[in-house]
Amino acid sequence: MKRVTILGATGSIGCQTVELIEAAPERFETVALTGGRNVALLADQARRLGAKIAVTCHDDCRADLEQRLAGSGIEVASGDAAIAEAAARPADLVMSAIVGAAGLLPGFAAIRQGATLALANKETMVAAGPLVLAEARAHGATLLPVDSEHSAVFQALVGEDRGAVERVILTASGGAFRDWPLEQLATATPEQAATHPNWAMGQRITIDSASMFNKALEVIEAKELFDLRSDQVEVVVHPESLIHALVGFNDGALMAHMGAPDMRHAIGYALNWPERRDLPVARLDLAAVGSMSFRAPDEARYPALRLARRVMEEGGLAGAAFNAAKEAALDAFLDRRIGFMQMAQVVEQVLDTMSRAGALRVDSPGLDAVLGADAEARARAARTDLLTA
Ligand code: NAD
Ligand code: MG
Repeated sequence: MKRVTILGATGSIGCQTVELIEAAPERFETVALTGGRNVALLADQARRLGAKIAVTCHDDCRADLEQRLAGSGIEVASGDAAIAEAAARPADLVMSAIVGAAGLLPGFAAIRQGATLALANKETMVAAGPLVLAEARAHGATLLPVDSEHSAVFQALVGEDRGAVERVILTASGGAFRDWPLEQLATATPEQAATHPNWAMGQRITIDSASMFNKALEVIEAKELFDLRSDQVEVVVHPESLIHALVGFNDGALMAHMGAPDMRHAIGYALNWPERRDLPVARLDLAAVGSMSFRAPDEARYPALRLARRVMEEGGLAGAAFNAAKEAALDAFLDRRIGFMQMAQVVEQVLDTMSRAGALRVDSPGLDAVLGADAEARARAARTDLLTA
């Protein structure tokens, strides 16, 4: 039996993880489930999986959760500290599926107990990649990527000589606006940005896909996870989302990972690793697919990709600042305080001011420095002219 904890169980990744675990009760035992305000769903999941503890990050939701789990014998807790404590409970695998930098500390708690950390939360690697790898080494923890592109790269690297890797190519669908005229993007609304042509995901990552901030985070995530130079990570727009990523080797070979756009593949691969098991995903009929297309990403349309390059060159705390500024800009876009294309302007201004202040150039930053840069970037984002206007 694999003991599993799911951080962010009520979200898009979390629900699909619950579904796969529920389908194999003889192989998985659930330790902890965490969520937010959707306590009805969290309580239901905890009962179905027979979890030991259910935790909501909101203290004002605790009484409701307690009531829903009364008589079940399932422990209830609330608050950020309780989520980190739940992540520290002995488990073989912890699924990190909280959205945003909020996933960072619970992820560290899981690493420190030596669990295998299945990382859907890409923000962890963007904000603190080198630190995460060092902690994992120190505690004997294993990191398994769950982001579809990174799971694809991980799978393409099995049995390969890492030294023979020349480059990694991440595919991008292009998001909701890939075919919109450039000048129209300024008027895009959160509702329009929150629809994805191929993948069903949480609201925030779907909007990040439209702006390619998601791909920008993934480029940095790939560099950190697979120990690459920034010039070894490429992005190609592939509207069909059937190839998830490719690895290029020094003999010219390209290993592509293909499959239906269904996150249950990457989630299931991590849950079952190091084995492969049957998964309920559609099998591709290549003759029916017929053809696939590729094109270079347009930098004017996707300034986030340029910013990702800059973040990788700057290193230090740039990733933590970049992610936090992006989260603040996304909040402002969702509140209709800034336009779609202004998100990148906010992020760039934050990087500019922090860079000028020397706040990003820190060698081997620790967790406190990462959290400090995150807080400073959010504060600086709030003070940018776009957000004070
Ligand atoms: P989601 O919004 O659907 O779910 C987020 C989960 O995190 C929910 O359970 C929510 O209650 C919880 N949560 C939110 N804020 C929290 C906080 N402050 N403290 C504690 N818990 C909190 O998100 P999602 O789409 O499932 O994405 C989760 C992570 O996986 C993100 O990092 C995303 O980038 C990554 N990811 C998602 C997909 C996808 O298909 N959805 C694909 C690849 C990577
Ligand atoms: Mg992805």
